[in-house]
Amino acid sequence: MAKVRVGVNGFGTIGKRVADAVALQADLELVGVAKTRPGFEARRAVERGYPLYVAGNGSKEKFTSVGLPVSGTLGDLLARVDVVVDATPEDVGRENRKLYEAAHVRAVYQGGEEADVAEGSFSALANFDAGRGKRSLRVVSCNTTAIARAASVVLKRGEVEHWDVTLVRRAADPWEAKRGPIDGIVPTLDLPSHHGPDVRTIFPSLPIATAAVVVPTTLMHVHVNHVRFRRALGGTDELVEAFRASPRFRLIAPWEGADGTPQVMEIARDLAGKGGRPGPDLPENIVWERGVRVDGRDAYFFQGVHQESIVVPENVDAIRAMFELADGPASIAATDRSLGLDRARTAPAQARPMARVAPRK
Ligand code: NAD
Repeated sequence: MAKVRVGVNGFGTIGKRVADAVALQADLELVGVAKTRPGFEARRAVERGYPLYVAGNGSKEKFTSVGLPVSGTLGDLLARVDVVVDATPEDVGRENRKLYEAAHVRAVYQGGEEADVAEGSFSALANFDAGRGKRSLRVVSCNTTAIARAASVVLKRGEVEHWDVTLVRRAADPWEAKRGPIDGIVPTLDLPSHHGPDVRTIFPSLPIATAAVVVPTTLMHVHVNHVRFRRALGGTDELVEAFRASPRFRLIAPWEGADGTPQVMEIARDLAGKGGRPGPDLPENIVWERGVRVDGRDAYFFQGVHQESIVVPENVDAIRAMFELADGPASIAATDRSLGLDRARTAPAQARPMARVAPRK
């Protein structure tokens, strides 16, 4: 079967990672990426051999004058692809929608866009089938993706009466030197925060309420969860094992000593390049085993969210759903294999027997 031809418009934090992931898939072909201006990310595209196209109000001469070859305009790219992943800044995707529709190209948008930019909102573990055959999908934001994944595990344990999430949000991505706060904690005073309603674009009747504060860190977000079920759960171990059994979760064992985001991102750096993992990223939800507690009907857990990469596998699966290339479990497995996420999940268990190797005589 012919590969689905993919273009990526907007080659920043999310776009460059999605392009790398698409390039790894056997059933997808990365045709090119589009940028408005030359810069270190345009250079990266050329160095990786991705054909570069000029988007928005950019000019070809600005790229060629600094030695970056250009394969055409965004219009040329759209004429060569079946689907475009729009990873431009918030609200630019909605502007671009006209171009995609005029070119009869399907589109995957990101979570910075309002939900009605696309035919549906998408999160692979939660609603893969709802994305089947769609001409456009919106992959929900990093925070919403993390909550939707957790909900896909939690809702299998029992009916939820109420779920409170406090989101401790990173102030900026690591490269964004001009954003803050650099000191202080800034609460999002509009309650509930927009995350709860956004989760309901995936789980319409989920009784969830969210509140958020922004803190001066760039590494990850952390979510503090309290779920009240209608009936008592079996216990803490049951919930821990449910997270462990799910794709796209990485549990941090107490013996690892990685009790906060600095150590967790150090794990990401250590894993970079292992088993196909493209970079120092953590597309999995991070759950600290020691921070999971079940007390009758009440469950508590923390999640770490690597905002720069958590939505990357979801973009790949969104394309497979739209073109009906695979069912949900098969697509998730293929994506995770290509990104080395399946191996990472089992790594602690594999590590234990090594500790028992007998010393040399
Ligand atoms: P970014 O600023 O890192 O990258 C956006 C890129 O698009 C930049 O390279 C910019 O030059 C380029 N661009 C600007 N206007 C353009 C245009 N008209 N045509 C083509 N390219 C254009 O932004 P990002 O963080 O990658 O965010 C992209 C989307 O992903 C947003 O909707 C955002 O809300 C969402 N998202 C971001 C994160 C995150 O933590 N960074 C996480 C999940 C989802």
